[in-house]
Parts: sequence; structure tokens; C-alpha cells
Amino acid sequence: MNARVGVFGGTFDPVHHAHLRMARAFADELALDEVRLIPAGQPYHRQEGPRASAAQRLDMVKLAIAADARLTVDEREIRRHRPAYTVDTLRELRAELGAAAELWFLVGGDSLAALSSWKDWRELFRLANLAVAMRPGFDPAALPPEVRQEWQARQVSDFSNRTASGTIRPLALPPLDLSATRLRAQLAADEPVEGLIDPAVLAYIRRQRLYR
Ligand code: ATP
Repeated sequence: MNARVGVFGGTFDPVHHAHLRMARAFADELALDEVRLIPAGQPYHRQEGPRASAAQRLDMVKLAIAADARLTVDEREIRRHRPAYTVDTLRELRAELGAAAELWFLVGGDSLAALSSWKDWRELFRLANLAVAMRPGFDPAALPPEVRQEWQARQVSDFSNRTASGTIRPLALPPLDLSATRLRAQLAADEPVEGLIDPAVLAYIRRQRLYR
């Protein structure tokens, strides 16, 4: 059987419960051998509020995935000393895994809505399949027309016919209203976040005095 590899990119500032449950549902629902979390390199534009460094975001991802052997971390975007585009990362992975491997890229519904602003976005479908985790408020009818067209054309209901790339699959996982932005605000306000962040990650945040 061909390798089935899932890729999940994000800022992970910090990695949280919604990320982890979607990574696990991604592995389960698509019967993937492995899901690689790929923390983004340091954003180059200035951002509001306290943020973690790339090294700290990487540390937190490593702590969060330690208990699940299917989840791994891929450091390539953090190590790259220029902005990393998803399409470039997928090109590299495709070259490494070979043409026959099933490659899946996971996004949340909000990222799907922004897909056509990504560099060479249509090439994503030549390189990989796309899995989408619903986010509260996601409405396919509200997608930009060029993305909605792909959303309609690329969904396959018969999943016995799996392909190396080119399809779109919405996850069955119910949406969960949680974002890193909200968690950073809750941490800054000293509000409880237990249950929303992995305990080892939360201990790290407290130790490093992050998001204060
Ligand atoms: P921020 O609030 O800082 O923008 P975030 O919580 O959206 O962060 P990211 O690291 O930016 O987290 O997200 C990585 C990926 O995970 C994106 O594709 C995003 O759409 C998805 N994602 C994050 N939270 C959820 C959620 N609650 N439901 C579905 N997808 C999510």
C-alpha cells in the first residue's frame, strides 16, 4: 500500500486543543500513517500583542504531540530563512515521498476561505489532497467563487478510490469554537484555560512567562 501522509501547517501560537483534536480526526478519518505538524516560520510582518518565538512554538508542538505516535513535527519551515509558502513545502514533500504516496494537507474552514490568496494555490491540488476541518460559521456558499468551484468539483463521496492528490474531503469532526487569538487574550487576562491547552504546554507557557 502507498504511504498516506498528512500535513498540518499552522502558526501554533500556541498549539491548542482544537488543533490536536483535528490532527487526530485527520489521522483517524483518513486512515493516515502519519500526520506531520509543520509550525510556520516567524511571520515577517509586525503583529499585535505578545507572541512566542519560533523556537518556543516548536517546543510547544513537541510537548503537545509527545503522547501520540502518529503525530510528528516537521521543522523545515522554522529552519528556512525566508518566508515559507505552503506550495513550496508541499513541492518538497512530494519530491521526498514520490509520486505514488497519498499526500493530504489539512486546513480549517477559515483557511479554506482564504485559499485563493495563497501563492500558486491551484497547484496545491496537483501536489496533495485537501482535508477541511469545519470551524463554527463555515458556510460553503460564502466561499469565494473560484474556491467554491473547487470545493464542489473535487469532493469524492466514494472513498474506496483513493488518489495521491487532487481531492477535497471535509472531516466529519464537529466544529469547535477555539482560537489561539482567544487563548492568548485569556492567558493575558489570567483567565483559566485548563482543558483548552495540553497540560505540558500550559506548564511551559507558565514557565516561560508567555502571552503576559
Ligand atoms: P490565530 O487565532 O492566532 O489565528 P488559530 O487558532 O487559527 O490561530 P493557527 O495556528 O493559525 O491557529 O491555525 C492552523 C490551522 O488550524 C489553520 O488551518 C486553521 O484554520 C486551523 N484551525 C485552528 N483552530 C481551529 C478550529 N477551532 N477549528 C478548525 N480549524 C482550526
